[in-house]
Amino acid sequence: PEWQRNFPSVVSGGPLYLQFGNLSVTSLSSQEMESKNLPIYHQKSKLVQAVRENSFLIVSGETGSGKTTQLPQYLYEAGFCKDGNIGITQPRRVAAITVAQRVAQEMQCSLGKEVGYQVRFDDFTSPSTVVKYMTDGCLLREVLADPGLSAYGVIILDEVHERSLNTDILLGLLKKVFSNPSTATKGRSFPLKVVVMSATLETDKLSVFFNDCPVFTIPGRVFPVTCKFGTAIGPKDLESTGYVKEVVKVALNVHTTEMAGDILVFLTGQVEIERACDLLFEKAECIDYRYDVYDQTVEGLLILPLYGSMPTDQQKQIFQPPPPGIRKCVVATNIAATSLTINGIKYIVDSGFVKQLNHNSRVGLDVLEVVPISKSEARQRAGRAGRTSAGKCFRIYTAEFWEKCMPEYTVPEIQRTSLTAVILTLKCLGIHDVIRFPYLACPEERFILEALKQLYQFDAIDRRGRVTKLGELMVEFPLHPGLTRALLKAASLGCQDLLLPVAAMLSVENIYIRPGEPEKQKEADTRHKALAAKTGSMNDFALLLTVFQSCKSSDRPSAWCKENWIHWRALKSAFSVETQLREILLRLQQKRDFPVETFDGNKSELFRQCLCTGYFTNVARRSVGKVFCTMDGHGSMVHIHPSSSLFDQEAELNWVIFHDVMVTSRVYIRTVCPIRYEWVKDLLPKLHEVDVYELSSVARQEVTDDEMKKWETKEAAKRQQDVLNEDA
Ligand code: ADP
Ligand code: MG
Repeated sequence: PEWQRNFPSVVSGGPLYLQFGNLSVTSLSSQEMESKNLPIYHQKSKLVQAVRENSFLIVSGETGSGKTTQLPQYLYEAGFCKDGNIGITQPRRVAAITVAQRVAQEMQCSLGKEVGYQVRFDDFTSPSTVVKYMTDGCLLREVLADPGLSAYGVIILDEVHERSLNTDILLGLLKKVFSNPSTATKGRSFPLKVVVMSATLETDKLSVFFNDCPVFTIPGRVFPVTCKFGTAIGPKDLESTGYVKEVVKVALNVHTTEMAGDILVFLTGQVEIERACDLLFEKAECIDYRYDVYDQTVEGLLILPLYGSMPTDQQKQIFQPPPPGIRKCVVATNIAATSLTINGIKYIVDSGFVKQLNHNSRVGLDVLEVVPISKSEARQRAGRAGRTSAGKCFRIYTAEFWEKCMPEYTVPEIQRTSLTAVILTLKCLGIHDVIRFPYLACPEERFILEALKQLYQFDAIDRRGRVTKLGELMVEFPLHPGLTRALLKAASLGCQDLLLPVAAMLSVENIYIRPGEPEKQKEADTRHKALAAKTGSMNDFALLLTVFQSCKSSDRPSAWCKENWIHWRALKSAFSVETQLREILLRLQQKRDFPVETFDGNKSELFRQCLCTGYFTNVARRSVGKVFCTMDGHGSMVHIHPSSSLFDQEAELNWVIFHDVMVTSRVYIRTVCPIRYEWVKDLLPKLHEVDVYELSSVARQEVTDDEMKKWETKEAAKRQQDVLNEDA
């Protein structure tokens, strides 16, 4: 058949896996048809009218109704770009990219022209871009550079129900600046329009937040989805990873016993997804389509992974309809729950878990954890099967798991992660009272105080809570504040070339290939060990530098990566990230008061000493055997992760710093570097210097300072009036 030409390596009836040939792209006319079938299409003129009449508008509608892809196009057609660009934010980077691609296609322009996107370290826009998709983090950076957002006529905050940290902060900022008549047009010649888009949750709350602004609801039809609980995952299985095998089993069962229709499997992350795809592929190969499948029109299985750091050309494949007779099975992270809609899904397999960044109070750090999803999240996942017809959802967990382990709602990110970076942003925007900022959901005060404390420790704010010169430099880098601090230290000592590659390598996805097969794993280990030996000292940060430099200086960098079991794609991104960080740094160094310091220690220790400036909050000291104890007041017991080049060298170590932790039954530190106590001796007291009470009063004192300023301006105005009167 025709489609097989696109899948040359496939045997009819067999499963297809990771076939990324040139699948025929849906023709434009059918795309046009598709967009006219979306629920939002029937509301087009009313919706445009509503945006025209209101400076704040909430648009709500079921996922897949066309909000993200269509509304910006409607506004573009209606001439809203005359006053400035249309900016649309997404909490997820993949969503920003794929949606921009889709919209460019629908508008028949090439991506980066009228329609473009910008995500961290990847800007695909040009001077002619008027419809710009971006991550919420990018818009937050733009606010820093231009608080009046003068380039924009309309800002659309999308996926607000996701409650990502940056979107929540943007909501507060837009409310604070643009709903106040005296500040709304500051730095702009016309008022900004703000559209807030959300799935059907919490729209009343949002409306109240924006001074009772109108809510436009897109009516949409949803079809019933029958949900079945499983037997495999119960309350006792919270720590196990058995869900990967189980979803594979259930998905195969659906494939062989259910009528035609595509499957969407929800899993936790890249590693789990790739594992599940491998297993599915392996098992599906044994299916005899003459006897084993219930629906005889089903002749094969197309297995497609979908996760955040996937290359974009592969992501495009997800949306293509499968060839006739072939069932598509997409194995995805939560991204497919609301950010991206895949047509044709009839069956859901729900693992019940999600990977989430949570502040872990046991270690006092943010940790990426696998946790049960909330019930509302589970309903949302199930709903993906009922968009165009009735569907089925297979949950692998028991009803008891649902009752006992799954919370009612997902806690907004602002209430569960470190606020250090956003608090610095707010401070740099002149918002001193970070406690009484208009949060849609207030974070716990101790999280705010914790952030202030960290900023103080990194010298980004002073004892009175004011941003320092260093803080103003730090906010320019889209990196973790500690990493930025180390980088700036290196720059002030003139050795940024050591830290820039490390910062870049820590900002991209995992660079080391770890194959599943034990044989290959051994080979990869040997290669990685050889690289570590080349580094000289056992030190994971320095190893990153070695990998970066060796690859970059190689004649055939991609071949070098293959040979050394390194992800070439990750390194390519690291090269680009390094260039961008270098540009930011160069720009800052041209400023007159960029700090310059001299170093009078041992040159070979320069690199590690710079790291200490940013990582002294992550110091651990060996206590007994292989156990280390952190020094930040939490005094947690931690172990070196097996992936570290220092694993099994513990006996020779005393003090170490680390980049991050992984929590299972134990707490593991990863990316580790041995240090000397003298290097952190003067820094460590800083960890205990300010207590939370002092910070709390500082945070509040700034309120009076703020009021002071108001009073001062009033005074000044009065004095000016007095002078005028005198003149008269
Ligand atoms: P909403 O924002 O309301 O959830 P979207 O605008 O994201 O809805 O989706 C509308 C339609 O566009 C869906 O049918 C979806 O499948 C389709 N779509 C979105 N992105 C793509 C893409 N990259 N390729 C093909 N179809 C897409
Ligand atoms: Mg959307």
